[in-house]
Amino acid sequence: MALIVQKYGGTSVANIERIQSVARRVVERRKAGDSLVVVLSARAGETDRLLALAREMSPDPDPRELDVLLATGEQITIALFSMAVKELGAEAVSMTGYQAGIITDHHHGEARISWIETIPVMERLNEGKIVVVAGFQGYDDEGNITTLGRGGSDTSAVALAAALGAEVCEIYTDVEGVFTTDPNLYSKARKLERISFEEMLEMASMGAKVLHLRSVEFGMKYNVPIMVLSSFTDAPGTLVTKEDEEMEKVVVSGITYNRNEARITLTDVPDMPGMAARLFQPLSDEDVNVDLIVQGRGSVPGKANISFTVPQKDYDKTMRVAERVGREIGAGRIHSNPNISKISLIGLGMRSHSGVASKMFTTLANENINIKMISTSEIKISVIVDEKYTELAVRVLHDAFQLDKPPNERIRIQEEF
Ligand code: ADP
Ligand code: ASP
Ligand code: MG
Repeated sequence: MALIVQKYGGTSVANIERIQSVARRVVERRKAGDSLVVVLSARAGETDRLLALAREMSPDPDPRELDVLLATGEQITIALFSMAVKELGAEAVSMTGYQAGIITDHHHGEARISWIETIPVMERLNEGKIVVVAGFQGYDDEGNITTLGRGGSDTSAVALAAALGAEVCEIYTDVEGVFTTDPNLYSKARKLERISFEEMLEMASMGAKVLHLRSVEFGMKYNVPIMVLSSFTDAPGTLVTKEDEEMEKVVVSGITYNRNEARITLTDVPDMPGMAARLFQPLSDEDVNVDLIVQGRGSVPGKANISFTVPQKDYDKTMRVAERVGREIGAGRIHSNPNISKISLIGLGMRSHSGVASKMFTTLANENINIKMISTSEIKISVIVDEKYTELAVRVLHDAFQLDKPPNERIRIQEEF
């Protein structure tokens, strides 16, 4: 008998029929002999609805109270789901994050799980029950309810799987796995059979929302295999797992896009040591995650232009800091552009194959798409383009790298090193 953690996302539990349908799948699996912990999201749209409600009450809701409110979405589904299971004649018990011992830091709205007290869940599993846990929520060491950030139920599930020593964490969603790019953006996207934790980490942090970034970090750290599959079909999904030799042979595994960043440029910053630190230290103190940074020549010798990108949600905060620091250091003007998009190519094979960047740039140039910024890592190349080119850029790159074909049928890019 294996211990399995399953997670069902918002569309999978969107209404009574969907909840009943998932309950039937779960009960069948339980009857087959597996021990099951089922982590649920709120119904699709519910977290957005609660957020809008809070904003009606206050333009800047108190973070603690906002978490109390947002956590209710998942409480609705765990209760209804447990009722559905019982209607099918099986035993289930719902547990909130608090009851399931999910302890986090104090960071309301973006809390990180620090510890899971597994005894309460284990006890109920030992009683033969299906344990139904509210995703996305935990509590801090003062007993306050916290939430883990949008999409955080994936992280609740993988963290529970790690803590309980589960065999696998199955993430059920509205697509049949992890694809070469968002299948809702490009229908030629191809489902991956397997992907390494490292590539999945890059894909998640570069915008593929199919898995919450922290869930992949937990999977990697504790070596919990993650299976991404559809709750609507029985198709085999994608296994996120440790890297092996075969994976290294695939040059480009996927393409992601992220429209949620903004670009800010400070012109004519004095070109002397310490200027970048003067700008980026206060941003880091304000918890702003600066992503791409490019420094170029200013309008006159001795001056430099610094451009960088930040998440759109931090745009106002960033502009306030940039304006203040700009005045203090005697910089020129500040330009900003929230209508940008980051397109990234990800693949383990980039470690040993050259030519990916040049092919990417040529492909975009052929479509007259201007690249505003570039950044690379060992297994990733990202470019910033105008937001209006997002779909076009993803599609032409997907075609150019032949990602619709199985890896062994793609044309080799260039010689291996
Ligand atoms: P859930 O509510 O089940 O957690 P999400 O909406 O968070 O589901 O994640 C699933 C969505 O992720 C898909 O509907 C798809 O549009 C999007 N997505 C983005 N990139 C990818 C990708 N590379 N592979 C699969 N899905 C992707
Ligand atoms: N309900 C939360 C959200 O919409 C968490 C999740 O679905 O994973 O972000
Ligand atoms: Mg999700």
